[in-house]
Amino acid sequence: MLYRPQFFKLYELVCPHVYNKFGDGAWRFFDDEAVITLDWIRRTLGKPMTVNNWHDGGNLDERGLRCIQCKIVKDKCISGHVYVSTHILGKAFDCDVEGMEASEVRVWLAMNKSKLPYPIRIENHVSWLHFDVEDMGVPLYLFEP
Ligand SMILES: [Zn+2]
Ligand SMILES: [Zn+2]
Repeated sequence: MLYRPQFFKLYELVCPHVYNKFGDGAWRFFDDEAVITLDWIRRTLGKPMTVNNWHDGGNLDERGLRCIQCKIVKDKCISGHVYVSTHILGKAFDCDVEGMEASEVRVWLAMNKSKLPYPIRIENHVSWLHFDVEDMGVPLYLFEP
């Protein structure tokens, strides 16, 4: 991927496994459309957003790109599940927006869907904003967990 976000550092968008192994090379695992959209939401809302915070000592580390050493993915492997998430394809982020509930962010996205740089899917009824750039043929596609 060629796009570099204005508002996010790489370590906010990948797990520590990937960051420690690939460093800056890990940018290539992302879909440009996902990172451009993340930056667009951050810029347009004008509020700080958190994806991962492990680099600053927090416990969030699977909300951007996930690898096979990440717990969610590892658990699926061990239990014999087939798992293809947009989080392992570099197309998804889970975010918190400062001062807004996830449901409020979803409403705001719905109101602004015609301005979105790319079509997105968002997950309903979760306490964080999950969006990904899987193109469902509409600007904003809502899916259930
Ligand atoms: Zn990982
Ligand atoms: Zn997610």
